[in-house]
Amino acid sequence: MTSTVRTRFAPSPTGELHLGNLRIAVFNFLLARRHAGAFVVRVEDTDRERNRPGAEERIFEDLAWAGLHWDEGPDRGGPFGPYRQSEREGIHHEKAIELLERGAAYRCSCSEAELDSGRTATRDSPGCPGGCRDRADVAGAAPEGGVDGFAIRFAVPDRVISVKDEVRGDISFHGRDIGDFVILRSDGRATYNFAVVADDVAMEISHVIRGAGHLSNTPKQALLFDALLGRRPHFAHLPTVLGKDGGKLSKRTGAPGVELLRREGFHPDGVVNYLSLLGWSPGDDREVLTREELIREIDLARAGASDTVFDPEKLRWVSSQHIAGMSTEKLAEAVEPYLDRSRFPLEGVELVRAVEAIRTRLTTFGEVNEHLTLVFPEARALASAREELMREEGAGELLAAVRDSLAGLSGWSADSAGEAVRSAGKVIGVRGAGLFHPVRLALSGSRSGPDLGKVLEAIGRDRTLELLDEALARVRAGA
Ligand SMILES: [Zn+2]
Repeated sequence: MTSTVRTRFAPSPTGELHLGNLRIAVFNFLLARRHAGAFVVRVEDTDRERNRPGAEERIFEDLAWAGLHWDEGPDRGGPFGPYRQSEREGIHHEKAIELLERGAAYRCSCSEAELDSGRTATRDSPGCPGGCRDRADVAGAAPEGGVDGFAIRFAVPDRVISVKDEVRGDISFHGRDIGDFVILRSDGRATYNFAVVADDVAMEISHVIRGAGHLSNTPKQALLFDALLGRRPHFAHLPTVLGKDGGKLSKRTGAPGVELLRREGFHPDGVVNYLSLLGWSPGDDREVLTREELIREIDLARAGASDTVFDPEKLRWVSSQHIAGMSTEKLAEAVEPYLDRSRFPLEGVELVRAVEAIRTRLTTFGEVNEHLTLVFPEARALASAREELMREEGAGELLAAVRDSLAGLSGWSADSAGEAVRSAGKVIGVRGAGLFHPVRLALSGSRSGPDLGKVLEAIGRDRTLELLDEALARVRAGA
């Protein structure tokens, strides 16, 4: 293993990426970037029955959306490929033979029936019931042609073994409690723990960062690293993320899949930021950090071990804060894919002005349409607002004064148009809600909405005057 930091994210293509998985990818990505190392994606697809067609591609899409760009992976290759575990069976085989030759593993000739009868309470580590470890006829190196028909077991030492965890400190366990576990099944397939370690060794992974759910795999994996490599990577087990009900994070407890967040238009930096706070903190009370800040400051030494709770409201808030930090031009670009053009055929500077009017209300890019209706209302909303205006005392005089004041403007900006409305109010002695509500009703079909000056700038002079004229006509017709 080199001194370069190499982290890996190892998803299984069995379904969609959920937030818990993405959090693991976030930590691996940030740590690799912090140390100018490599972030590797290895697809663990050996459980063929559970693999879903298209799932791998969707995982890549989700990672790319989150901006977690990987340096090596099945789609882009790299010096340690292949990056799909199912394509690495030869390497697993080689490593198993290596262990056999060194006497760290042995062939187990027990039949399935024997194995079944010997199964102990710890189902994952039954050990060998037939005493194969001590039988010369099966011990030692495999004959030419491999290990066909035999399972290969790892010979677990009978002593206390300690593993250092970057988050949890030292974890100790006794070899006796593990039992000699199978690393290669009799059909030649590697078991989960062995495939993972064989691949981590071959890919020179320096940091294994994953969820606390993997703690139970760690003793076996540490032993395998010792035997294959003579040393171990840094292990870091991040705290479990719980749903608000205290149960495991799931869709049922309000955890959206990554695809849903993408569809709704959460700010990807906000999502990455929020997920980084599930188990880590920058050491002060900051909660909104840019990607650059996260890369600079991420530190496993400040990761906590206690369970953490997913809070969808907080996620939304962090997303809104990242949106607030964008320039309006960038924000306009970001909302464009979500824009319902059939309702809001806005282009270029028109879109930028419209976004400027509503930007403080956005928590996601996808909310753009909902808020634009307050700038560009539907005809039905305008019609009913005009009915309302008809019944409002003095609305005609007020709208006429505002119209004249706006029509007399030489330029047209949020400031000048807003000021023109206020000065018209002064002339006729109306201000506050009495002034703004009728104007808003005439323009937006609603009494409340974004800053009036910005709305005026967004809809433009011609449309503003047209709307005021139409409202006036209705009010006068009803008078
Ligand atoms: Zn055996």
